Amino acid sequence: MTAILNVLLSILFLISSLSGSIQEEQLQIRMRRNWGFSSGTGSIQGNFTIMASGPEDLTQVVFYIDDQIIGEVDESPFDHRFATDDYPLGPHQISAIGTTASGDELVSNLVQVEFVSADQGWQAAGNIIIPLVVVILAAIGLAVIVPLIFTRGKKEQLPAGAPRSYGYYGGAICPKCSRPFSRHIYGLNLGLHKYDRCPYCGKWSLVKRASKEELEAAEAAEIAAAQEGIFEPQISEEETLRRDLEDSRFED
Ligand SMILES: [Zn+2]
Repeated sequence: MTAILNVLLSILFLISSLSGSIQEEQLQIRMRRNWGFSSGTGSIQGNFTIMASGPEDLTQVVFYIDDQIIGEVDESPFDHRFATDDYPLGPHQISAIGTTASGDELVSNLVQVEFVSADQGWQAAGNIIIPLVVVILAAIGLAVIVPLIFTRGKKEQLPAGAPRSYGYYGGAICPKCSRPFSRHIYGLNLGLHKYDRCPYCGKWSLVKRASKEELEAAEAAEIAAAQEGIFEPQISEEETLRRDLEDSRFED
């Protein structure tokens, strides 16, 4: 198996080095964006550099937009910067002609581009970026808001030590009230930890999946604590206020 792979790899290497040596004979140009807009499909606006590469003995490169000479470079690196705004909007061909020390003339590949206005560029960029940002914000919003809505003020009243299954996300021990609970699908994953809400005390904390032994110990501690009366159902602030109001009605 590895032998076949090795043969394949060496064939690939041979092909690539062959095509590499052929390309070295030619003049190649490519474009780099310094700033501005590039659609990825040829529509560009802003400041760009045309970079030419050719044989070792390349002595001069002349850069063209269509038939117009836009720059001449007599030493390496054979790069030329230009701004699309200096030329008419619309489709253009970018190319270069190189000269070697031995006097050979090399014609580069053609790069097809379309110069667009800054407005068009930003509009096109906005068409891509704005929906993306909206989708990302919506996803973040859902991940944060949905669990808050569904868990707001809701506390489970599971008797201490009651048997429970911890489910797919595993059990965790609440660092605030020390009771074991099942981790939720909506908890935010942070490495091995989840930012999750304890259903008993309602507090959010960073919890990691607890081992079976740790959970059993926490359950046992829960039973012991219950016997000491720590988990007497607590009355919420609202409830206390409501009871106070009801009491005050009968005072007059
Ligand atoms: Zn808790």
